[in-house]
Amino acid sequence: MKIDFRIPCGVCGYGPKRLCCDGTKVGVGFRNSNYEEITETNQALGINNTLHRRMDRCFLKNLNGIDKQEMINLRTTLDYIARKELNEIKENEIIPERDLLDRIELLKQALPSEVLGSFERFYQMSDNERVAYSNVLKMLATTASITSLVPPAYCYKIQLLLNSPNIENDRFNSIVNETRSFAPELRDLICESLISNNEILPDDIRLFLQYLINESMSLQVTEPEPPVPQLGTYNPEKFGRAYYFNESGLKLRSVRKFSIDNDSCVKRNIDHDDATLEFEKCQKLYSKVQTSARGTSTLFLWFCADHGHCYGFHMTGQKEEKIPHYHSIAI
Ligand SMILES: [Zn+2]
Repeated sequence: MKIDFRIPCGVCGYGPKRLCCDGTKVGVGFRNSNYEEITETNQALGINNTLHRRMDRCFLKNLNGIDKQEMINLRTTLDYIARKELNEIKENEIIPERDLLDRIELLKQALPSEVLGSFERFYQMSDNERVAYSNVLKMLATTASITSLVPPAYCYKIQLLLNSPNIENDRFNSIVNETRSFAPELRDLICESLISNNEILPDDIRLFLQYLINESMSLQVTEPEPPVPQLGTYNPEKFGRAYYFNESGLKLRSVRKFSIDNDSCVKRNIDHDDATLEFEKCQKLYSKVQTSARGTSTLFLWFCADHGHCYGFHMTGQKEEKIPHYHSIAI
């Protein structure tokens, strides 16, 4: 623990282009370690309103008046249709054709009108376009936020492609290339749709993409506080963390508290989190010893993905790790 984490990657400096994070249980050797829990929220900052819950952010949202199980069925159907086209259905999962047709009818009733057009053309698409479309549907079938398919900050790029039918080739190609890094599934769909339809993006795909962009951009967010280095916060041994990617190594902001944190009903609130579906579950296997040991901590390490330099670490006793995402944003 005598490493100085304020020393940056020799090549990337304080701005690594690619950062990776991995965590491991450190039960035995660190059992008696005493550190400041990183996930503790800062009460002094006040309480932010919870703007939306998980099921408000996905494609097929839970809606008032519709049974939650029905929404789960619709998502499962969408996932099935997509994976069927991708040849990913296992034998024990096969839904009889008749049932499937009924389920597709129900799904069509629930799909936004902007999506229905392309969905109805699904089986008439060329093989490549259908595969590209299926990959997008597969993502939309999950309960992940729609922003994971197309981040709001990049929506304007795709908007450019949709708004400018006469955009010159070079410019078009460079945006499409860029799209590969932030929305690869959409990039493939745009390209395959163009190739399959005489280099003209069909209106139904255009409408579909516009819908996804609008959804992503309409999600309200609470901007994080501006970074303000906090004196006396660099002490890896004491605090069990050092990960701030800046020269001083000082903490830049505290974890915020949201009204949902005070909601004692959250765990029982069915509208907050559905039980995960089979295809959403993490497939990672943990050893029995690791998961059952009490008082264990998890050590997370941050690396420059290209040069292996360790930027820092933090320890937490929390099972679910919400911090990596939080700090990815902070960089
Ligand atoms: Zn590096």
